[in-house]
Amino acid sequence: MATEVVVVGGGFAGLEAAFYLRWRAAGRVRITLVSSEPQFYFKPNSIYIPFGLDPGRLLLPIGPAAERAGIRFVTARLEGMDPQEGRLFLASGSPSHLAYDYLIIATGARMRPEEIPGLGDHAAQIWTADQMLDLRGRLRKLVELARQGHRQQVLFLVPPNNRCSGPLYELVFMLDSWLRRQGVRRQVDISYATYEKGYIQAFGPRLNEVVELEFARRGIHGVRNWIAQEVLPNVVRFAHGETLPYDLLISFPPYVASTWLPPLPADDRGFLRTELSTRQVVGYPHIFAAGDAADFPVKQAYLAMLQADAAAEQVAARILGTEPQQVFEPTSMCIMEQFDTATFAHVPLRLTGDPQRPVEVDERANGRYRVGVSPLWRMGKKLLGYYLPWRFRNGLPFHAGKPWAAMEAGLKVMSTLLAR
Ligand SMILES: Cc1cc2nc3c(=O)[nH]c(=O)nc-3n(C[C@H](O)[C@H](O)[C@H](O)COP(=O)(O)OP(=O)(O)OC[C@H]3O[C@@H](n4cnc5c(N)ncnc54)[C@H](O)[C@@H]3O)c2cc1C
Repeated sequence: MATEVVVVGGGFAGLEAAFYLRWRAAGRVRITLVSSEPQFYFKPNSIYIPFGLDPGRLLLPIGPAAERAGIRFVTARLEGMDPQEGRLFLASGSPSHLAYDYLIIATGARMRPEEIPGLGDHAAQIWTADQMLDLRGRLRKLVELARQGHRQQVLFLVPPNNRCSGPLYELVFMLDSWLRRQGVRRQVDISYATYEKGYIQAFGPRLNEVVELEFARRGIHGVRNWIAQEVLPNVVRFAHGETLPYDLLISFPPYVASTWLPPLPADDRGFLRTELSTRQVVGYPHIFAAGDAADFPVKQAYLAMLQADAAAEQVAARILGTEPQQVFEPTSMCIMEQFDTATFAHVPLRLTGDPQRPVEVDERANGRYRVGVSPLWRMGKKLLGYYLPWRFRNGLPFHAGKPWAAMEAGLKVMSTLLAR
């Protein structure tokens, strides 16, 4: 009889886990994929929405993709569970409950701007497509005012407990390039304040260096280790007493888990406690967690998919009675869009156990920490933007088979030539 596996979440981790498991254990497994949304949203490319991209181009219907892979798809919200009985309770959908032999949880995160008084009321945010469209409107207004001769101040803000600052760095560089093209850059002051001790702290000293050079080249005023305490209309107050003014505030708020699932063990933000390499939820041998929903401190689509592969591999190995072929080795890969150029980073990471600086570059992976800046990396970002939706649309995992081997080889060649 086929083993019943339920995967919850229709994002990067959920789709990757479901498609990977199907690819590895076809015929031996019955997979049900549950998601509160019927569409997959390709969030990393939502950075283009404020500058004109139609958000509809980032949506992919999950139902047909799952059907292609022979996976049952249920649109419903997971509300609770009984891990002793292996049962899930669903709201807003049919059926009202599901039974599983193995469960992979990939329900992602959500924003909690309320942690910083005033942030939710005064800042433009970047989590949803609607927020990105709202930002588009605010940027157009800003350009209009700048053209009329009203000097404008834009402040980018990363508060503590944001777990993925990269996109805000992309947006500040993209905005600078875009304002130059609009011919109004001189009328706009841009500042960037982050709680991090180094810019894009999680990705180590080389990324910090790149950002410092870019801020200097572009005339952006950057400050680190500034902890936002309160947001008032037109000014942000920081813990050490300083303030920064703004006409437009753009922020990426603190993260919490999207779904709290007692009695599963979780940290104080609801992120599920997992064994690092296998993604098994601590104390629950049949339950795994991948992506933003789990307790790995850096939240990223690339890391989410690596975790999903590792979780699905564990489940596949148990069903097939084989040894797992891979485990989760935290390595981040990202390409940071800047419009006039782009920055590539390949960063092997290590957990430190220090809550102030929970990850650091893994020095043992000497030579694999690579960073490069070149307009050619924009092509790499475009390629990933086509490759990933193409794989998912066809019910196939991102990291598997010959297409991924070819993609990886291409990235390696580019990284040898264009990064150090
Ligand atoms: C603007 C922006 C740019 C980014 N750029 C990059 C980038 O360039 N590179 C990169 O690697 N990462 C990037 N990220 C981060 C990346 O998007 C996330 O890390 C990634 O989406 C996490 O994937 P996930 O599957 O864990 O969660 P999500 O993609 O958030 O998916 C969660 C899924 O679970 C579903 N769900 C939630 N709760 C429930 C429930 N209770 N029941 C059923 N279903 C539920 C949701 O509907 C969704 O389908 C960016 C993020 C943002 C906001």
